[in-house]
Amino acid sequence: MTRRLTPRTSVSREPRSEAVAALSVNNDRCRRYGTCSAEAPDLFQLTVTGELQYRRAVPAEHVDQARSAVRCCPMLAIVLKER
Ligand code: SF4
Repeated sequence: MTRRLTPRTSVSREPRSEAVAALSVNNDRCRRYGTCSAEAPDLFQLTVTGELQYRRAVPAEHVDQARSAVRCCPMLAIVLKER
């Protein structure tokens, strides 16, 4: 099930394992360049319509990808809160 947050980004598939961190994307900053989906393909996806979908809940096995996406986002739009 996909929940729409805004017209430009949405939260997609929930992870199967327990979340250890939470992602969010600032829609005012995001320009949908797609760098995050290249760095963290298990967490971010840029659709053919230009919408950025991402997982809010980050399982342990994808935390490194999430950190990489945060570092590489040219707009500093991604926030990762680790528990
Ligand atoms: S890298 Fe940053 S600006 Fe580009 S799509 Fe991802 S969140 Fe948006």
